Amino acid sequence: MNLLSLKDISVKKNGNTILNGLNLSVQKGDIHVILGVNGVGKSTLALAIMGITKYTGKIILENRDISKLSITKRAKLGIRFMRQTPPSFEGIKIREYIKIDSNLGIEEIKKTLKKVGLPESYSERFLDDTLSGGERKRVELAAIIASHPKLAILDEPDSGIDIISINKIKSLIKELNKNGTTVVLITHREEITSIATKASLMCNGKIVKSGTPRDINKLFKKDCKGAKL
Ligand code: ADP
Ligand code: MG
Repeated sequence: MNLLSLKDISVKKNGNTILNGLNLSVQKGDIHVILGVNGVGKSTLALAIMGITKYTGKIILENRDISKLSITKRAKLGIRFMRQTPPSFEGIKIREYIKIDSNLGIEEIKKTLKKVGLPESYSERFLDDTLSGGERKRVELAAIIASHPKLAILDEPDSGIDIISINKIKSLIKELNKNGTTVVLITHREEITSIATKASLMCNGKIVKSGTPRDINKLFKKDCKGAKL
């Protein structure tokens, strides 16, 4: 079943075409990797799906046209987003942040933090810029796990995470998916496709091909031209 369909999505910024009539279907239950080199428009695509950036075209979630909905309404429908570089927030503690979107008590929050490789004591830390980018990513992942979303858009979840921890992050994403979340996993690293059930190759503001992770990996190596490096 189709969970998310993107139809003819275009984004222009300062006269530049960043997304150029992009089409994509994401099936319910998949870990769908969007693979593409730097600059092809992957983050812009994530921002469009969340309604953070302006675009033309249609976004359909479970047969409902959400193209005109606000970010908040999309979140209410169960879409969550991990930014490539998560923002920091002054004055909010990590436990409060995770609680916004979940029913977890403090012990469960601590457990979730441990899962993503953060010490329990971090529940009392502020989500400000005293945390590293990698730590903020882990907090985002904890918040997403805690909220059991319908759809999680993860923009380069492995960047800023040390090599040793990447397998851990991969298994957490798998677990999230097993628990019922469809995942759109954005990456420029083909290693991540090992946990994918489906993959799409993105070049120059478009999805050029969708298929098995294996086939898309092959194509990525030999054929993703037109990257703006
Ligand atoms: P990716 O995530 O695949 O690396 P991005 O979506 O971040 O790609 O960016 C795609 C292209 O759009 C890049 O060339 C980038 O410089 C450009 N771009 C992104 N945001 C803006 C903006 N606000 N104004 C102008 N150009 C932008
Ligand atoms: Mg990006």
